[in-house]
Amino acid sequence: MLRVGLIGWRGMVGSVLLERMREEGDFSGIEAIFFSTSNVGGAAPQESAGGAALQNAGDLKQLAGCDVLISCQGGEYTTEVYGPLRQSGWRGYWIDAASTLRMKDDAVIILDPVNGSVIQQGLAKGIRTYAGGNCTVSLMLMGVGALFQAGLVEWMTTMTYQAASGAGAAKMLELVSQMDCLVDPVRKTPSENALEVDRMTMQVQRSPSLPKQEFGVPLVGSVLPWIDRGMPGGQTREEWKGMAETTKILGLDPPVPVDGICVRVGTMRCHSQALCIKLTKDVSLRDIEQMLDGANQWTRVIPNDKQSTLHCLTPTAVSGTLNVPVGRLHKLNMGPEFLGAFTVGDQLLWGAAEPLRRMLRILRSHLGK
Ligand code: NAP
Repeated sequence: MLRVGLIGWRGMVGSVLLERMREEGDFSGIEAIFFSTSNVGGAAPQESAGGAALQNAGDLKQLAGCDVLISCQGGEYTTEVYGPLRQSGWRGYWIDAASTLRMKDDAVIILDPVNGSVIQQGLAKGIRTYAGGNCTVSLMLMGVGALFQAGLVEWMTTMTYQAASGAGAAKMLELVSQMDCLVDPVRKTPSENALEVDRMTMQVQRSPSLPKQEFGVPLVGSVLPWIDRGMPGGQTREEWKGMAETTKILGLDPPVPVDGICVRVGTMRCHSQALCIKLTKDVSLRDIEQMLDGANQWTRVIPNDKQSTLHCLTPTAVSGTLNVPVGRLHKLNMGPEFLGAFTVGDQLLWGAAEPLRRMLRILRSHLGK
């Protein structure tokens, strides 16, 4: 039986991964070993093989006892452990949610509905390191990857609306605390005067007592047009990943320019993106819709009308589901080769946990276990 070690299973991504593995029966037929960096010897989830307690995620010998390791622990952990583990001679499969190994030559970025063939080629070549992609890039490719695969994208801009969950559990909790503070004065002194209410909420946003240890600034009632660290040329690293990871996920040669502005907004776990796509030729909207709708079972074209858009193309409609709707499809004023689109996806599912879960399945089928 395949021994599968899980590290980081109680974090944001890890707990969604566990939930999905339970729903899909992925624990049957594997020996699951649970690791911890903070509670070695503590009680492990019920799926732990033989009811064993939590193992030490820093112990290379214990890690090396696994055929497959799935880490949702974070980049620092991967940086500390991955190199020494490989140097110790471990030849198992490493599946990781962190960005640390994504751009390495001997690693494949996994998003199998979009790049299943790249993953199969990797397995055939003996590659043993598989990393989940950046959530925004994965969700964009789930939505419109078919256009890249058809060679129809000359360049693309992505303007994103990214949820708090992309920055981890603590940030989601802070957003909700900020929401609570924002409405508190209005709750205490109700008013029908919008300007008065506006003054009250602005005062809260600018008050030093608003909880903002995590974001550093108010996110509630605001938007933050900066995610991650700066890069040369004025981009943020989140924006840099758009083109770098798209190129690697799809194996594009030459690369297709992808760029835009990444913005944090006050939603909980769904990222949205407004896309402007310069097509390589004029293609009818009907053909484009057919191509996108047929790409995989999760991508769905939403008709470009008010009712469908407001009911089906929002974080509220999509949260907690594997659906990746694409809508607002129309040709832009710039000309018939310019396509506008809007897409939404749950960044904890397709943006993080789901590609890892499915990679374990793919691996089991490859190994016949
Ligand atoms: P996270 O929620 O901060 O969890 C990471 C680890 O922190 C946990 O496994 C846990 O390790 C420890 N931890 C400490 N206090 C905790 C608490 N109160 N509750 C839960 N865990 C706690 O990180 P994450 O958002 O899941 O991200 C993990 C990795 O995935 C990162 O590299 C991230 O960049 C990447 N990623 C995240 C997303 C996303 O949507 N968040 C998307 C794609 C990729 P121990 O149990 O060992 O203490």
